[in-house]
Amino acid sequence: MVSVLSAMEKSNVKAHAMLGASSSHRWLNCTPSAMAESVYPDSESDFAREGTLAHALAAKRLKTHFGRSTKDEETEIAELSERYLTGEMEEHVEGYCNFVLQRYREARERARRTHGCEPEIRIEARLDYSDWVEDGFGTGDALIIGGGMMEIIDLKYGKGVEVNAENNTQMMLYALGAGAAYDYAFDIDVVRMTIYQPRIGNLSSWEIPADELTRWAREELTPLAMLAAKGKGARQSGEWCRFCRAKGDCPRLAADSLALFELNSDANGIEIHHLPRILAQLDIMKDWVKAVEERALARALGGERIEGYKLVEGRSVRKITDPQGAAAALLAAGAEPDEVWRPRELRSLTELERTFGKKGFAAACGKYVEKPKGKPTLTVESDRRKALDPADTFAYLDLAVPE
Ligand code: SF4
Repeated sequence: MVSVLSAMEKSNVKAHAMLGASSSHRWLNCTPSAMAESVYPDSESDFAREGTLAHALAAKRLKTHFGRSTKDEETEIAELSERYLTGEMEEHVEGYCNFVLQRYREARERARRTHGCEPEIRIEARLDYSDWVEDGFGTGDALIIGGGMMEIIDLKYGKGVEVNAENNTQMMLYALGAGAAYDYAFDIDVVRMTIYQPRIGNLSSWEIPADELTRWAREELTPLAMLAAKGKGARQSGEWCRFCRAKGDCPRLAADSLALFELNSDANGIEIHHLPRILAQLDIMKDWVKAVEERALARALGGERIEGYKLVEGRSVRKITDPQGAAAALLAAGAEPDEVWRPRELRSLTELERTFGKKGFAAACGKYVEKPKGKPTLTVESDRRKALDPADTFAYLDLAVPE
């Protein structure tokens, strides 16, 4: 894999860290978005910290297996475990590590068959793809190279969005970084990218010949990265807007959302062949509406005046500051214990599975669980759930009545 940026081109690309691999789907589709986003703070959510812990646990386990230092992981694990560690997480991390080791064994087998050298495995490897995107780098969760193939495995601990490996630009950027570092030592013909997303049972793999990946980088990636680095190109709205930090202020998304609303303001009059586009846009619009409200509040809190609106204190709910003290006072005043205390209540299924792990919970009390039919829901064709046959939906009719 050969770098395609000349020294002059490199000097023109001022990408900095804003052209990250995880947001690449967005800045490749809407090149000005990376610069537009860069003025908004990038806060770390609880979900992100939970993911960090799962990655640290997995890296520690794999590095220990291969006799490597786990000093970096120890610090993160110590900081995050008390708040985020659950039995469910331990189960998923174990499943992921077993999967990586299985893939490593397969690479050894391939190498043995082709009389190649022993495969290399890297855990939490820094992958530098700056040959194609200036200053571009990321971290690969597991990288296995040998037997003519390079495989990058990414652990996705989130469960909100199912991630597909096919044409996944984040993985393709990591693969370019890995290729730049290791291609000289191992003849890499094929690159395999794998997403392991255990909380929704998603395992997705995709292969691409190494020279095709390089062609994509040269012909598509680098020209768009150069535009993105300068904030140039036309804004394009689409599903990639969902996690764009600029969406609350974005004129393109606003114009597209409002145009769609104006064209289809009579919900009963929408023709069925228009629905696919409208339904796809609705999810983005919901996120946009929320982002506009959040931005408006932030601006008002920052002292800007919004005509016709004012800041007020939100509704708040009274709370008992000392439950034990309040109970003692009521009992002392003659109340019966049942009038004061609620009966003990079983924790929710989700909470129990988080604490004991899915397998641990199922082994102990799976026989007490049943799953009733869910309401019919309209979703995209690619959703993994089995499609309902409209002819069989009689059984669902009661469930389909709006509440
Ligand atoms: S909200 Fe969408 S259209 Fe606007 S900058 Fe972000 S990605 Fe581009």
